[in-house]
Amino acid sequence: MSKKISKKSLEELKSRSNNNCEYCGEDLDKAGYHIEHVVPKSKWVDGHLSYGKNNILNLKLSCPECNREKYNRNLEEYRQFIMRSRAKKDLKLLFEEMIESHVKGNPYKFYFEKTIDC
Ligand SMILES: [Zn+2]
Repeated sequence: MSKKISKKSLEELKSRSNNNCEYCGEDLDKAGYHIEHVVPKSKWVDGHLSYGKNNILNLKLSCPECNREKYNRNLEEYRQFIMRSRAKKDLKLLFEEMIESHVKGNPYKFYFEKTIDC
């Protein structure tokens, strides 16, 4: 995202966020900052924003990762995206645990193991 905003606006954003990513809280001294449009450019409609498009009310300081992830989502779409990604990750882990436990509880026997007296 473009960094072409006034120095004053940038200072305001940094002070508003304590120089942390406004989405995930990452320390931007380490991560580097992007200037992110809350209502993405692709969703700007004439008259939709009562304030200027580069007004800091429509800007967030973000880490590169959040900026990339949010992409052209608006705020609520991004929130849904994060919740769905987390749910997928959690359910994948749970599913893997269930498979492990099922495998341990149901050892497979080859045919010859079932027919040999030992
Ligand atoms: Zn972030």
